[in-house]
Order: sequence, then structure tokens, then C-alpha cells
Amino acid sequence: MVSASSFNFSSFSCCNSLEIFPLFIAMPRFRPQTRCVRCGRPVLQSKADKLDGLCGICHREDAAIPPDDVNIPHHLARRLVPMNENPLDYRKMAWRDGLDFLTHYIDKISERNELFEKWFPALLAVANQCLDNRPILPENWLSKVDRAKQQIYKTKISNAERLPPDRNKATICRMPLIAISVAQRLWPGKDEHTVILTPEEKSKWNEIYSHPKDTFWWFVNYWWSIDDSPNQKVSLGERITISNWDDNDVPEGNLPWLVHSGLQWGPLYGGSKTERWLWDGNNCKFVRITGGCQF
Ligand SMILES: [Zn+2]
Repeated sequence: MVSASSFNFSSFSCCNSLEIFPLFIAMPRFRPQTRCVRCGRPVLQSKADKLDGLCGICHREDAAIPPDDVNIPHHLARRLVPMNENPLDYRKMAWRDGLDFLTHYIDKISERNELFEKWFPALLAVANQCLDNRPILPENWLSKVDRAKQQIYKTKISNAERLPPDRNKATICRMPLIAISVAQRLWPGKDEHTVILTPEEKSKWNEIYSHPKDTFWWFVNYWWSIDDSPNQKVSLGERITISNWDDNDVPEGNLPWLVHSGLQWGPLYGGSKTERWLWDGNNCKFVRITGGCQF
């Protein structure tokens, strides 16, 4: 590797740099390139020489990794431990963003935990009340269509992306009534921090609780629904119309269903997905993902 010190800069003086300037203009522009020793991106040789053979992107990533002997100050570590947060997880943030930023971040986690302590009992109370008022659906009353939908819900709920467990967060799962017995047998029914609500019940909770602006979420939202009579065309404003499927996408005797699912754990964190399934009167089968977004 060539280091900057191996060049003899002293051979260029201020006055002769003026003399050679026109020469640089006339010469073809040749700037030797190499490749980043880590990711392989093309990088100027002169830049790679300065950055230990790395491109700018890899060098910035390395700059965010704190040296081994850097630890966050004790007064901040002492705040994190009782909140069940590992101070070691915050070394990178402290190194990259500074201690003021980390202090502010810890304030925000603390504020979120207080919201959880205050509101989670209220959420549980609403969920228990809903459970008491909910009609009981004996399995043998369910139609063939309902059973087929339950199979879809089972697949979607079982395969939903899971976030690392956090004792200061609740999980709110929203789904129609026929999906609830399915969810109760799967992970949402086994976790004491998870509540299961129908869309109507979730609306009731939204009337009780409104999340304060600019505070971290103390809850994670999941949702699942199946539209068994979707519109083929959907208007997005006056001029744009999108088609959920083409006529030849749906074989004779089949009905298209749109299966919606999503997960959100903050205003900018999460995503949703829409899939097209086909119901032939006896079985349903997944066709393809037709839409979705990450936010
Ligand atoms: Zn690189």
C-alpha cells in the first residue's frame, strides 16, 4: 500500500506550481483508479491511498465503529441498565453521533417506557372487555369460505416478521373476528404483551389513546385482512387508475381475493403488503404479491 508520506511533496514549490498549471490543462485527464479492497467498488487510486485502500462508503462505515477502548460514560450506562438496555449496544451511537445525541436518545427511551407503564394496563383492560363482549363463533358454524380464509390467516400470522422481544413494548394485532381463534393458537395468543383486536375494537382503542407527537412508540401494530370481493380497478386521483388484476389472471370459476398484511413500529418503520389469491369454491391458492410499501 502506498502511503502519503512516500511522495516527495517538497519538490513542488508555490512558484513553480503556477508555471506548470497550464500544462495540467493541456494534458489528457488521467486519474488512476483501483478497486476498494473490501467491497470492490471503483475508487480513485489517490483516494484509496488516503483511506487505507477503501472507498469512501466503506471508510465511513468503519468510522462509525468505535475503537475497543471506547465506552459510553458511566452516568449514561447507569441510566440504560435499569431500562433493560445493554450499554454495549449504544457504543456505536455514542461514537458516531456524539454524547449529546445519545443523552437525548436515552431521554426518549425513558419517555417511551413511561408511556408503556401508564398505558399498557389501559390497553389490556380494553382488550379484556372486548374479549368479554365478543360473539363466540363455534367452529362448526363456519362456512367453507371462512375456513379457507382461516387457512390464509394461519399462514400469514405464522410467517409474519417478528421484532426482537422488548419488555417495554406492546403488540397490537388487528384482524377480523374469524381470524382471532387462529391467532390465539399461534404466537399472538402466547405472548402476554400482545393483544388481539378486531378493526372495530381497534377503533375504540384509537378513541381512547392518541399517541403524543415526537415520542417513540411503546407499541407495535400488526394487521391482516382479506378482501373477498375487491374492485378490479382502483382510482388514485382523477387521472390514474390501477388494475388489481387482468381478466385472464382469473380462470373461469375462480374469484380473486386480496390479502392485506402489515407491520409498523414507528412513524417511519414498517411496511405493508397485498397479495392476490384465488378461491375456486373449494381451495384457495396464493398467486402473487401485487402491492406493498416500506416506510
Ligand atoms: Zn468499499
